[in-house]
Amino acid sequence: MKLDVIKLTKEFVTYPSESQTSNVEVTQHAAGVLDRLGFQIEEIPYIDATGVAKLSIVGKLGQGTGGLSLMSHNDVVPANPDDGWSRSPYSPWVAKDKLYGRGSCDMKGPLSATICAAAHFKAAQLTAPLYIVVTADEEIYGVGAKHVTAKSKLFAEASSGYGIICEPTSLRVVHAHKGSVAIRVTSKGRAAHTSSLKGLNANMKMIPFLADMKKIYEQVLSARRFRNEEFTPPHSELSIGINDHNRATNITPVQSICTLNYRPMPGIDTEDLIDRIRKSAKTHGLHFDLRHHGRPLYTPVDAPLVGTALKLAGKRKSATVAYGTDGMAFIKKMKQMVVLGPGNIAQAHTVDEWIELDQLRKGVDLYTRFIERVCVQGQP
Ligand SMILES: [Zn+2]
Repeated sequence: MKLDVIKLTKEFVTYPSESQTSNVEVTQHAAGVLDRLGFQIEEIPYIDATGVAKLSIVGKLGQGTGGLSLMSHNDVVPANPDDGWSRSPYSPWVAKDKLYGRGSCDMKGPLSATICAAAHFKAAQLTAPLYIVVTADEEIYGVGAKHVTAKSKLFAEASSGYGIICEPTSLRVVHAHKGSVAIRVTSKGRAAHTSSLKGLNANMKMIPFLADMKKIYEQVLSARRFRNEEFTPPHSELSIGINDHNRATNITPVQSICTLNYRPMPGIDTEDLIDRIRKSAKTHGLHFDLRHHGRPLYTPVDAPLVGTALKLAGKRKSATVAYGTDGMAFIKKMKQMVVLGPGNIAQAHTVDEWIELDQLRKGVDLYTRFIERVCVQGQP
């Protein structure tokens, strides 16, 4: 079967699957297309933290385990038409060899490229299976990918094979990216009119904790053990946010919240860092909550997958990036992954988001050659 990548991208963009809303309809649309291509479909549904129904799927073509997985997400960041969009963000349009619309680049275009590549093959041709993974909530701590990693039977059998995270890299090969840690530390006080001296100011308990965090902040930006030269920049910041949400200056602040974010790199002892923050919170009588811990993605540059990806993409060297992907969750089971997809990450999350038609076509071509090599010829 032949599928048109521009038409399919437009179909997907038409669904406003912003992360705070349901992605069930657009995922069912993708499942319908994969079903017509002969894929077996596994659904991984869940209800998110705000009670909204979400759906991820894993499709499989062919027999056996391992093979090749092409992985995308179909949630998008919000698009407010008042932010200056030339047209409705969910009425995709083509102009001057670019396809515009929210999610065209990040990453319904790349997702469409994987499906259009798959359409060139029939199950009977394949000596190793092809999997297409579509996740929800990548933009919200990769929750969909966490569910897929923990629950999907097809993902479990795919995980011994190769994985391509098809996020836009301008078709450059990325062998590593940073992880992501999010912590929330809370101090509780007692409200009162400040003139009464009967309140307990929640911010006071936070101050010595913040002094500890400042030390860690300086250390992660300077100490060698928090450095990885493969990345630009070679350090990650401990990003510190403070908020007491106090409604008036004459009320004693009843709560104080410190948010901490860090992007761990391969080889850095993140557990120890988290532990130090946890201990400091405990020492100062604060509540500690590890909200998210996404692992860095790392496939050694001399791994066969990286070599194959470079060869097929016509590139000489692989790169690292500072942003994260669903790979932070997948890496718990799948060990050989690269990020490689059409479109430029610079266009992601922007007003009038676009992807070049040429990138879409090249993406289809590259994924087709990847499937041919790994799933038809059975070569590493
Ligand atoms: Zn993305």
